Amino acid sequence: MGRYFKNIWDGIVTVLIGMKVTWRHLFTPAVTIQYPTVKLKLPERARNRLYVNMDDCIGCDQCSMACPVDCITIETIKSTPDVDLGLTSVGTKKRLYVPRFDIDIAKCCYCGLCVPPCPTECIKMTDVFEFSEYERSNLIYNFATMTTAEIDEAKAKLAAPEKEQAEKKAAPKPGAPAAAKPAGQATPAQKPGEKA
Ligand code: SF4
Ligand code: SF4
Repeated sequence: MGRYFKNIWDGIVTVLIGMKVTWRHLFTPAVTIQYPTVKLKLPERARNRLYVNMDDCIGCDQCSMACPVDCITIETIKSTPDVDLGLTSVGTKKRLYVPRFDIDIAKCCYCGLCVPPCPTECIKMTDVFEFSEYERSNLIYNFATMTTAEIDEAKAKLAAPEKEQAEKKAAPKPGAPAAAKPAGQATPAQKPGEKA
């Protein structure tokens, strides 16, 4: 009988000890937050999702070359002299179209190495850190703003002067001696073995 009451007493004491810890924590300031309703303030230099302001991008490729995991893909098209692509917000003249500027953020390791080399400060880290996706392909961000028609037009404009330049290069220079015929090679009028 004595053991019976002792067990009841031990149970009560154990509950009271447990409740003591609970009561103490009820009056201690909380260290947790109600995420995602409440969010912590990020440090000033926090590295999160990247953003590129294409209005200021000159297509110099510096960011892509600095990336250790090759997750930035840039394609450019030269502009022709009659086209004025304008200036960036820091006054740099734009000379290249940028039809493709992709960042595969799934590969990105948030090292931030792509940011400092940018001469126009148009690639930067944002404070966005919640961007999970169900499809991996959705993590390839396309920043380029050119339409297919604009890309085709820029390519076509460049093709004409490039072709002209290639033809000029290929044309024989005036006064230059005709290219020597390799020894033993028959002209189209000669039969093989016949002397010139
Ligand atoms: S943060 Fe680092 S890994 Fe991500 S794109 Fe920039 S250089 Fe590449
Ligand atoms: S370094 Fe800057 S300007 Fe150059 S391609 Fe990258 S984002 Fe554009």
